[in-house]
Amino acid sequence: MEEAIWDSQWRLVVRKTVLRHSLTREGPNIRKRGEKSTGIVPHSTLFPFSLRPARYSAESLMSSVDHALGPQFRFFGVSKRFGANLALSNLSLEIERGEWLYVTGPSGAGKSTFLKLFYLGEKTTSGEILAFGANMNRLSQKDIPFHRRRFGIIFQDFKLIANRSVMENVALVLEARGEAVAMAEKRAKNMLRHAGMEKRMHAMPQTLSGGEQQRVAVARAIAGQPEVILADEPTGSLDPRSADIIINLLSAYHQRGATVVVATHDRELMAKKPARVIQLDEGRLVASGAGGAV
Ligand code: ADP
Repeated sequence: MEEAIWDSQWRLVVRKTVLRHSLTREGPNIRKRGEKSTGIVPHSTLFPFSLRPARYSAESLMSSVDHALGPQFRFFGVSKRFGANLALSNLSLEIERGEWLYVTGPSGAGKSTFLKLFYLGEKTTSGEILAFGANMNRLSQKDIPFHRRRFGIIFQDFKLIANRSVMENVALVLEARGEAVAMAEKRAKNMLRHAGMEKRMHAMPQTLSGGEQQRVAVARAIAGQPEVILADEPTGSLDPRSADIIINLLSAYHQRGATVVVATHDRELMAKKPARVIQLDEGRLVASGAGGAV
C-alpha cells in the first residue's frame, strides 16, 4: 500500500507501508513521549481541520440542509453551446459529497467546460444543475462569490499571479476570505511546506518549473479549505515527483471529506487513485464506471 508520509526534512514522500491504519482520519498514530518515531505524521497534522461542520454554526446548518437534499451535485439534461458548437450535450449525472470523480475523454470532449459549470465559470445553455441543494440557474449575482468560495480550482495553466511571490499567491486567497495577513502568511507557509515548496517561498512564479508551479497552485486551492476541489489536468506532463506530491496532497485532502473532480487523460493517476470515471466524447456522456472499467 502506498501512503503519503513526511520524511525527516518534512517533505511529502510516497512510501510502501503496512501502517495504513495509522493515517486514517479518526486514528492518527500519535507518538507517546519517549516512543520511537515511526516517521509517519498523522493526517491531522497535514490538515489540522475537518470538513465536517462545527456543531452550531450557520455553516453547519447549511451543511445539514445540503445533506438532507441528497447528492452534492445533480445535473439534469445539461447542455452548453458556444455559437454553433455544442460543447456539452444533455448531460445527466449525480456526484455525492466526498466523492472522487474522474472526467476523461479526448481533447475537445468538453471536460474543461464541464468543470467550469460547477463554479459558474460558464453558464448552462439548457438544463439544470442543483449544487449543494440549490438550483444554480437561480443564484443571484450577490450569491456567486459565496458559491465560488466552496471550490478550490486547479487550472491546467496554473493561473498564478505573476507579480506576486509564491507565498503571496497562496496567502492572498486566505486574505480574500478575511484572514489577518499574519495568519494568512503562516498558513500559506505551512501549506507550501506540505507541497515541498518551502525553499521557493519567496521566488516569483515564472522562475519555477511547471511541476513546481502546479504544486503552488494545489497548495493555493487547498489552503482555503474548500468543500470541493476541481482540477483540470493537474498532473498532465509534470515531472514524476511533482505529480506524486500533487496526488498525495489531493488524496489527503479528500480523506478529510472534500469532493474532488479531476479532468484528466492521465492513466497513471487513475491507477494510483482508483475512483468513478465518466467519459465524455463530443460533449456527450458516453461511459461511466468504476476506475479501469471505462
Ligand atoms: P476539453 O477540456 O475536453 O479539451 P473543452 O471543454 O475545452 O474540451 O472544449 C469543448 C468544446 O467547446 C471544444 O470544441 C472547444 O473548442 C469549445 N469551447 C470551449 N470553450 C469555448 C469558448 N469559450 N468559446 C467557444 N468555444 C469553446
